[in-house]
Amino acid sequence: MSEIHTNVDAAEIAKFDDMAHRWWDPEGECRPLHEINPLRLDYIEERAGLQDRKVLDVGCGGGLLSEAMARRGAQVTGIDMGENALGVARLHLLESGLEVDYRQSSAEALAAEMPGQFDVITCMEMLEHVPDPGSVLDACARLLKPGGHLCVATLNRTPKSFAMAILGAEYLMRMLPPGTHEYARFIRPSEMEAWMRQAGLSLRNLTGMHYDLINRSYRLGPGVDVNYLAHAVRED
Ligand code: SAH
Repeated sequence: MSEIHTNVDAAEIAKFDDMAHRWWDPEGECRPLHEINPLRLDYIEERAGLQDRKVLDVGCGGGLLSEAMARRGAQVTGIDMGENALGVARLHLLESGLEVDYRQSSAEALAAEMPGQFDVITCMEMLEHVPDPGSVLDACARLLKPGGHLCVATLNRTPKSFAMAILGAEYLMRMLPPGTHEYARFIRPSEMEAWMRQAGLSLRNLTGMHYDLINRSYRLGPGVDVNYLAHAVRED
């Protein structure tokens, strides 16, 4: 692996590649991603805009969010290090008839190739699988045009997120395969803000993504102690 790809955990990539054929099964282990997709899509559209925007989806997986953004009129590039994930994402374009430029790359490598080119960058449910999230955020800042928007989604590191996202979702309710998440890699909003600031990004908004156990559905709202979305802007 070249220097520029050192911020990649091969075991994490393999974990996602092993389940790649199930990305688009709304009832399978990617069900939570399917369920949160409309919520995060509306958040991105509202905070950053999508129509005719040049958008980069970092850690795009099988392309659930990339395709949804393309459907809303964005010109989307999706990057991931997983070959199988990208294979599934490319195949799915044949079904949807949408256009997305999928590439096997890390954010750091693409930043060397395409600096300052994107209006909007999304990086969702990915930072908690990377050895050095600050380095990914720094690369995202370099990939953005000045004034460009970054929308991130991840998990906070709190006792409640351990209970809900690991014990609840993985072991009790089996919404996700056990071992999907590692608590130590969860990211506190204060850590996110500090990394963003160091990268020249200014944090504009934090919004919680809540799972309602009774209705078995997600909604956005205040309270960022488990899943949350963050919106930042690249300073000029
Ligand atoms: N963003 C997608 C997929 C989330 S799963 C969605 O929310 O629908 C996390 C994805 O990040 C996996 O596809 C995994 O292969 C990818 N990933 C993990 N580390 C990465 C890295 N360093 N560079 C690029 N992709 C990475």
